[in-house]
Amino acid sequence: MSGQADDHMSAEQFRAHGKQLVDWIADYLAGIESHPVRAPVRPGDIRARLPESAPEHGESWDRIQADVDRVIMPGITHWQHPSFFAYFPANASGPAILGELLSAGLGAQGMLWETGPACTELESVVVDWLAELLGLPATWRTDGPGGGVIQDSASSAALVALVAALRRAGRVDADRTACTVYVSAQTHSSMAKAARIAGITTPNLRTVDVDPDTLAMRPDHLEELVAADVAAGSVPTMVCATIGTTSTTAIDPVGALGEVCSRHGVWLHVDAAYAGVAAVCPELRWINDGAAEYADSYVTDPHKWLLTNFDCSVLWVADRGPLVDALSILPEYLRNPATASGEVIDYRDWQVPLGRRFRALKLWMVMRWYGATSLREHIRTGVALADELAGWFREHEDFALLEHHPFGLVCFRPLWPALSHRDAETATAALLARLNDSGDLYLSHTNIGGRTTLRIAIGAPATTREHVRVAFRRIEQEYLALREEQAA
Ligand SMILES: *Cc1c(COP(=O)(O)O)cnc(C)c1O
Repeated sequence: MSGQADDHMSAEQFRAHGKQLVDWIADYLAGIESHPVRAPVRPGDIRARLPESAPEHGESWDRIQADVDRVIMPGITHWQHPSFFAYFPANASGPAILGELLSAGLGAQGMLWETGPACTELESVVVDWLAELLGLPATWRTDGPGGGVIQDSASSAALVALVAALRRAGRVDADRTACTVYVSAQTHSSMAKAARIAGITTPNLRTVDVDPDTLAMRPDHLEELVAADVAAGSVPTMVCATIGTTSTTAIDPVGALGEVCSRHGVWLHVDAAYAGVAAVCPELRWINDGAAEYADSYVTDPHKWLLTNFDCSVLWVADRGPLVDALSILPEYLRNPATASGEVIDYRDWQVPLGRRFRALKLWMVMRWYGATSLREHIRTGVALADELAGWFREHEDFALLEHHPFGLVCFRPLWPALSHRDAETATAALLARLNDSGDLYLSHTNIGGRTTLRIAIGAPATTREHVRVAFRRIEQEYLALREEQAA
């Protein structure tokens, strides 16, 4: 008995099972419409199909693969389904999936340049490429004073940007009780979470008013809050402006907010997690107005709308100094000549974890496979479909449309003329539940001005005009059926 290696998957086994699995994925994606969009399961259903304990002895691949179909698939909500319209898209694509596979196949860990030279340098190149494709400033490139890095998520990006801002404010190794951070009620919750993790107390998270019509942050109110905080001896540390809020894709006036920040020396973080990638289209570059002049950090997620499967969130900083200074801690065991030379980037100093995956591969493969032209085409398709759908809601007497829809998100509300506000709220929730329970489509909701509002986010690569048309008809039918039931 050798006691070793016998249980490892041999190269021949890996080749055979790997091909099987790639075939399985290709079949899955080709036949995705045969599944209900949202998993029709209850809490605990999947767990109940799994054994209590891990197996004592190894099992055959066939058994494992069979359980993927039997146990896992019933509990999958199909984000790549063309009728998935909930939240925001989380695009996958062939080249991205293959990039992910290659990353796992290489099993490289790029914490330092030395532990992953290609991992580091390819990452710098693809984030520079992306900055250029989005029309972001050349100074944010890794060959300038700034630089880009791939994070796991926009939430992590918000956290490291905040720590960089604390560093610039001289508060990394100092008391933070005076530090204040500014958001609006529309800012993503990840910023509040970042503040909490970074030791900013809840009362020091200031909520700037929004314009009631556009839901955009009000620069005059920001000025008022910052000035009052300065007068009271606080340390205004960071403002988070959003380009494309999660609720409704509202756009904060980055230039005017940045002007306030620059006057008071406050770090401006721009959260363009969903919408930022839309700037691959020159006609949408206006969304970044003000960001080039004023942003200290900027994040967008190719893992939402740019065909690169989760996780791939790109953070740029205008000056990498405070970020790297804030996050560098060099123990003896990580010392090496390349780091000591100062000539390389060690991306561990740009993120929370030490270890890091080779995420740049999938973004590189996506950019090369599609080319800028097809990336633009993908975004334009989403925007055009959303525009058409918005037109159908606008013309329909039973629905109210949120007129602002610059991207792939359309927000609408069914009108219930005979119902009180409270009953209308219940009816809208019932409509949403009925649509999502059908398994034919999947929408999500938000609240605008005290009213439940439904969100349709278009952007899955498989979504066509026909899927959007069918979804619209389905919403109309279910709405009419519900209204009739209520009248009876
Ligand atoms: C989705 C989203 C986030 C969070 O993104 P993750 O990458 O999942 O952390 C943050 N901000 C906005 C505006 C978002 O839409």
